Amino acid sequence: MKQFPLKLVSRRMLAPTVGHYVFQRDDGEPLDYIPGQFVQIHFQYADGTTTKRSYSLATIHDHALGPGEAVEIAVSYVPGGAATALFEGLADGETVQASGPFGRFCLMPADANRRYLLIATGTGVTPYRAMLPQLEQQIRERGIEVVLLFGARTPAELLYGDEFRAFAERVPGFRFVPCFSRELPAQPHADVRHGYVQQFIDEFAPDGAGDIAYLCGNPNMVDACFEALKGYGLPVPQIRREKYVSSK
Ligand SMILES: Cc1cc2nc3c(=O)[nH]c(=O)nc-3n(C[C@H](O)[C@H](O)[C@H](O)COP(=O)(O)OP(=O)(O)OC[C@H]3O[C@@H](n4cnc5c(N)ncnc54)[C@H](O)[C@@H]3O)c2cc1C
Repeated sequence: MKQFPLKLVSRRMLAPTVGHYVFQRDDGEPLDYIPGQFVQIHFQYADGTTTKRSYSLATIHDHALGPGEAVEIAVSYVPGGAATALFEGLADGETVQASGPFGRFCLMPADANRRYLLIATGTGVTPYRAMLPQLEQQIRERGIEVVLLFGARTPAELLYGDEFRAFAERVPGFRFVPCFSRELPAQPHADVRHGYVQQFIDEFAPDGAGDIAYLCGNPNMVDACFEALKGYGLPVPQIRREKYVSSK
């Protein structure tokens, strides 16, 4: 697979240990993608061995992306992590090698469901950020509902929380349900829940006839939600999964 350079344009902290990185593809080619896909970042360990890590594309995808457009990812810093060190040390203007886009964790054109149940923890929410324009279109054109259950430990770790809340206020049919496992906001919105995402699936009465679920992020959460959704009668093809495992 062809590799290409991504040049860091800017970064900001989304949470105490999560950075939002804005890159530009630096070889004059476009990096268009289907929301839900990821890129791979290629680099070397200290001993020179090559390795790679995957990162979901977070850019809100509302038009076909041409050359020079923002390529956004959210990077969760893992203690002792090799890619973590690479990203933490990256200065504006420096480049990393990438390939892609890859993956099939995407909304499917033939979906005829009544509702999407989108479930994430941590940076696993970024594919859903990229999907927002597609989701809005489907809500408008097919009259579907979308529920985003997003698990974080504390309000400070609710990545893009203000964006999702603003989207939910603007787009009837989209419900944003942040689930905090440790600490609640001072004045929680009525849709805020206290606990792990998997504890609140029951509230939405998943149903095999109308629902398609997406699960993204922590592998334990993905497995727990997968089992729970199967228990509600969702056929396996209607439970789409992306586990954030290290590819070393
Ligand atoms: C399809 C796909 C998409 C992904 N998208 C993203 C994304 O958008 N953003 C993102 O931040 N990551 C994402 N990941 C995970 C990412 O690829 C890396 O695995 C992660 O960033 C850790 O890499 P590292 O080199 O810093 O740590 P490593 O050097 O791989 O690991 C260092 C140590 O930390 C442990 N560890 C690894 N990951 C975690 C973790 N999440 N929590 C706790 N301990 C861990 C390892 O077991 C190891 O002991 C994705 C993974 C996949 C497969």
